[in-house]
Amino acid sequence: MGTAWKRIPPPAIAVVALVAVPTVVVAIALGLLAAPRFGTAWAVSAGVAYLVLAAAVAPLVLRVDEVRVRRASRRFVQGFEDAAIGMAILAPDLRLVRVNDALCDLLGRPAEDLTGHSILEFTHPDDLIPSVAKQKSIIKGDGAPIRKRYVRPDGAVVHVMLTSAFVDPGDAEPYFFSQLQDVTEQHRAERQKAAIAALGRRALDVDSRTLMNEATGIVCDILEAHSCLAFRRLADGEMRLAASSSDDGSGPLTVPIDASQTGYTVLRNESVVSNDLVAETRFAVPAIVFERGLRRALSVPVPERAGLRHALLVHAPASGRAFGVEDVRFVEAVANVLGGALDHAATEDELRRRALEDPLTGLGNRALLMSHLERELRHGARLGSRLSLLLLDLDRFKAVNDTLGHAAGDALLRQVATRLSACVRDEDIVARPGGDEFVVVSTRTDSDQAIARIAQRLIDAFAEPFQVEGRELSCGASMGIAVAVSGEETAGELLRDADVAMYRAKEIGGGRFEVFDATLRERLVERLTVEDDLRHALERDEFELHYQPLVALEGEDVVGFEALLRWRHPQRGLVQPLDFIEIAEETGLIRPIGSWVLQTACAELANMPEPIYLSVNLSALQVSHDLVDEVEGLLKRYELRADRLVLEITERLVLEPRTKPVVERLRGLGVHVALDDFGTGYSSLGSLQRFPIDVVKLDRVLLRALADESGPAVLTAVVELGRALGLRVIAEGIESRDQLDRLRHIGCVLGQGFLFARPLPLAEARRLVDPPADADRDAA
Ligand code: C2E
Ligand code: CA
Ligand code: CA
Repeated sequence: MGTAWKRIPPPAIAVVALVAVPTVVVAIALGLLAAPRFGTAWAVSAGVAYLVLAAAVAPLVLRVDEVRVRRASRRFVQGFEDAAIGMAILAPDLRLVRVNDALCDLLGRPAEDLTGHSILEFTHPDDLIPSVAKQKSIIKGDGAPIRKRYVRPDGAVVHVMLTSAFVDPGDAEPYFFSQLQDVTEQHRAERQKAAIAALGRRALDVDSRTLMNEATGIVCDILEAHSCLAFRRLADGEMRLAASSSDDGSGPLTVPIDASQTGYTVLRNESVVSNDLVAETRFAVPAIVFERGLRRALSVPVPERAGLRHALLVHAPASGRAFGVEDVRFVEAVANVLGGALDHAATEDELRRRALEDPLTGLGNRALLMSHLERELRHGARLGSRLSLLLLDLDRFKAVNDTLGHAAGDALLRQVATRLSACVRDEDIVARPGGDEFVVVSTRTDSDQAIARIAQRLIDAFAEPFQVEGRELSCGASMGIAVAVSGEETAGELLRDADVAMYRAKEIGGGRFEVFDATLRERLVERLTVEDDLRHALERDEFELHYQPLVALEGEDVVGFEALLRWRHPQRGLVQPLDFIEIAEETGLIRPIGSWVLQTACAELANMPEPIYLSVNLSALQVSHDLVDEVEGLLKRYELRADRLVLEITERLVLEPRTKPVVERLRGLGVHVALDDFGTGYSSLGSLQRFPIDVVKLDRVLLRALADESGPAVLTAVVELGRALGLRVIAEGIESRDQLDRLRHIGCVLGQGFLFARPLPLAEARRLVDPPADADRDAA
């Protein structure tokens, strides 16, 4: 070190040069000034005299200065050694000539390992080329500081702000004089800030899982750690690995929440630094961590709106810097970004879930069903596999809703959802597209038997009664199955086919399944044709009314008629209402058709003798305030006594709140209202009392009770109640003398049925009530 130092020329020489040059210049100037005035000879002598004088004085001046310079040099050397920042003298070939202690600390090596070595040996490989380039520009006088990285023996990278000057003394070897300031911390802080900003921007573009993976990578990189892991809290007291900076399985996949660092972090909601894991007592450290030589760890909770679920965990080897406050702050900032992203994702999940979920049962809704179906159909078409759609409709669900209330209906639907879900495999889905319909989509039904098995399992799910509001409730289901085989079916077609099959299952009694096939397809086509024809039936005047007599059971006199709609189809002949009313209702055509029925019936009633009355059936869709106006208009137009018109509504309508005000207005006109099909619906005897009606028509099914061993108790009760309430009670569907006798016996006075007459064309019905002209004559 000493020899290297001696080679440096004393700065005094420079001072001598600085003094001598101006002296000579002054001498020449004096000579030139004196020449014009005093002549050349005088001038030359004055210059020479000045020089002689300067030469005599100079040694005196110089000696004083040399002392000063020597002192300064000593101070300089002392300052170099003691400087808090790294300093070095480098040869032009970048070999280190002299280094101070601060630089030894900075580079993590003793002076003897540095001097004689090129600084390039300690330079970060990525900085080699810029270093050499900078070296050249420094020689040309570029004094601007630059950032450089050096590598310490432990591999740690130090960031340095380097300021260099190239000194060329002329009489000695030129050299670089460099100052190196450690800016590693500052650099880390800047990188951390930039990383957090970048992560924040990423959060807008990627999903939270990707973000978490990226975040662990960034943390690991910036903290120069071994690994960064993200753990997620599970319901069962464990923390599971959710993301990792490396996929080398740097730790166990699950750790116990009460004995792990991440668990500790999450449970206490605090960041935890451990710079000596061996001495750690707060939590257990998995053996693999020590096996990998890791001794330091830092964990930070991820703040989430939904509560603490995630923690980040950073591991580092024994060597390297201890984790400090700045590191904790950095990881906390990363955790904040992650927390925000997780919150955002949770909100979006929630919205998506709501958009696709049936809130009542938690099953998928129609939107989910359709998108799932479409996806599976595309997928199936590619793989050539088949998909089955099983559509279930609860039998008589409306009864539950109507009699027990909506809360009970909802409870039943929820239980059905649970049972159905339990019947299917994980890859199958159960959805509730609406109402009391459920759909199962199964993709693993390659054989017919497999389909039948699933179908039977689903039907069997209804075998046990449901427990609803403390009572046992039996509820069956009808199922229609459609299978996608061609690979060309659309979701809509499958649903429609399953629907057709389901209706078939209902028609033949419910509680069973039907598979959509060619025959059903024909029925479907037929149905579509009916729909089409029905649209034109009114304008083509294809409807007619038939009239079934209502008779007094004693004496069997006709007291009135029920008008029953018929459709005279040009090809199919006389079509019965059961074959088209439902379609008319579904298509809304029932409104104009219903108006036609009312008008035709009123017109006919005007031709019938008093007190014969006429009963007209109303569809639910017709019951509105417009109907009241319509009826009022017809009564006026045909000058009818209002009580000769009876309007029949079904029990179902009685339960709808909108019905009552309409019925009250109709009765206000004086029109009578009948409750049709009593006994098939679900209204109790109580509804007879509460609902403002005039007539109750007992359905045919109640007549079966007449033959019961226990006697016709139910029927008797209804008849008696009706009478007590002042209602006209009409027994429908009387087919035998026996039934007639028993009905008379229990006090029923009015009836209708094939025993008396079938629904008759107008002319025949008229004949029953209009005595023929000759009979009149006979009587006279
Ligand atoms: P509903 O109102 O219960 O009409 C009585 C039905 O029972 C009629 O069937 C009638 O032919 C049948 N019937 C009468 N006596 C007997 C009997 O002794 N034994 C048997 N087995 N059946 C008997 P129809 O005419 O086929 O009508 C069926 C249903 O169509 C009606 O049932 C009614 O709900 C509906 N409907 C008929 N005409 C109209 C209408 O103009 N408008 C509306 N909205 N519905 C109508
Ligand atoms: Ca009726
Ligand atoms: Ca009826």
